[in-house]
Amino acid sequence: MKKAICSDSMEATRLLHVDYLRVLNPSVIERLGYIRHALFDFDGTISTLRQGWEQAMIPVMLEAICGSHPVTPEIEHEVREYVDRSTGILTIEQMRWLVDAVRRHGLVGEPLTAAQYKQIYLERLLVTVNERVERVARGEVPPSAAMIAGAEEFVRALYERGVKLYLASGTDHPYVLREASVLGIDHYFIGGIYGALDATEANNKERIIQRILDEHGLSGNELLVVGDGPVEIREAVARGAIALGMATDEVIRHGWNPHKVRRLTNAGADMLAPDFSRIDILMRVLFPACGKSNDSLKGEVETCREG
Ligand SMILES: [Mg+2]
Repeated sequence: MKKAICSDSMEATRLLHVDYLRVLNPSVIERLGYIRHALFDFDGTISTLRQGWEQAMIPVMLEAICGSHPVTPEIEHEVREYVDRSTGILTIEQMRWLVDAVRRHGLVGEPLTAAQYKQIYLERLLVTVNERVERVARGEVPPSAAMIAGAEEFVRALYERGVKLYLASGTDHPYVLREASVLGIDHYFIGGIYGALDATEANNKERIIQRILDEHGLSGNELLVVGDGPVEIREAVARGAIALGMATDEVIRHGWNPHKVRRLTNAGADMLAPDFSRIDILMRVLFPACGKSNDSLKGEVETCREG
């Protein structure tokens, strides 16, 4: 049966333009209701254990490029812009860019290898991350305090609906497994957990999204991709999947981050949400019930203004 939500897509779209869920691509409304598989990005989308990784990566890049020379505003801008743009890709890919940048600027001698730069970056980042992981593992911090608001509840709601879930991250595979397990969410991802494998691109998001579509013979409407990075959103859009961008303020773990809003809008996200705090709205929009009138949809969506 055709969904009532589709009967007047422009009206429905207008109604969804409230503070909680933003529909950027009105035509997505017509394509909702068929989701059977869902791929989630991990860092910044579900987990905040690595919140602030950019603050570890940017200095490593600046030191590698500039050495003992002063950091110019142009180089700093270039590095910050690249880190932002590349959010979500494999770390080794970011380090390959760094090797090129070191060579291009020519301020220091021969660059290290991408693997060596990655090692330097991870050593710095892991001091903070390990501390956070340990605190959750020891029970000093509840897992929910290291996740985006409502993340586990949303993942569970999809799981209980029979949606096959996949977790994909540009972070190295063993770390993703450990962190997903510490957060107590690994068992939901029966489709698989895909972290980066050493220096290969076997688990990059482009390939994983394509593999899910191919292996199950899915049309794009049957796959939901949820992420806070431009990479997974662009790859989802390119393959006709439903792209839900999570533009969360990771520091407080809920609410809009205006920078991510711009980044995900530019990447072509179909919809944006600030967190998973309104699962009722997310589920009703993603899985519109047959026979619901626009009036009932309006009632549901407008409630989020109060929340
Ligand atoms: Mg992310």
